[in-house]
Amino acid sequence: METDLLGELTSPEARKRMGRVTLVLLPVGSLEQHGPHLPLDTDCWDAFHLAQEAVKLVKGERPLILPPIPYGVSYHHMSFAGTISISPTTLYNLVCEIGESLSAQGVRKVLVVNGHGGNEPALRAAAQSLRHKEGLVLFIESGGLISPLREKLIGTKNDVHAGEYETSTSLANREEMVRKERIPQVEVKYPSPYLEFSSQQRVSWGFDVGELSPQGVLGNPAKASREKGERLWNSMVETLADLIDQLSSMA
Ligand SMILES: [Zn+2]
Repeated sequence: METDLLGELTSPEARKRMGRVTLVLLPVGSLEQHGPHLPLDTDCWDAFHLAQEAVKLVKGERPLILPPIPYGVSYHHMSFAGTISISPTTLYNLVCEIGESLSAQGVRKVLVVNGHGGNEPALRAAAQSLRHKEGLVLFIESGGLISPLREKLIGTKNDVHAGEYETSTSLANREEMVRKERIPQVEVKYPSPYLEFSSQQRVSWGFDVGELSPQGVLGNPAKASREKGERLWNSMVETLADLIDQLSSMA
């Protein structure tokens, strides 16, 4: 099977593949603290791995995968060592300029496989600009595909960072990277119910993770399991493959 990674192709091979399918995948991650028990590169590794696994399952032509963007907008994790953040403007410009190059080569659709929620605003702004300026459609997958199963399997409220969900998927993906003996007990107090992440009546706000949780964890990693992670992961890969097939055949 020929590689799906653009970086491993020659230029003539890339031309042929881009002619067969006008959708391209762009994984976007972050380099940011994930508590005392998960690695800094979790979001990037997961997004890149998810894209590669999903493409293997598509029924139609397999789209190419761009090299992942390893940095994201992580200002809200800056009080923890190891976090390297880029600005929303930098991410916006980077994605717009990648889109311009792709557009010049006939690519009409880009699916961003986004591993980090903090990247969403910049990615959405890039989607608006790319559609307006290039006629290129940017789709952004930030975990919405897994919402129903996530709600069923993950009991913890506000489990958004290095908690039950992300520790479970890390146990399923690369258990050797999880420092199990350092999984912390966490209790987060929110200043108002309207500011809680899983509240139905919530407002967005400029939060700082260090202020909410000295451990850098929002959620409950103590409830994580490899089994939950595997179920979540399998469902995510299958659903993303289905989405890719539908987007590929979209005019
Ligand atoms: Zn993460």
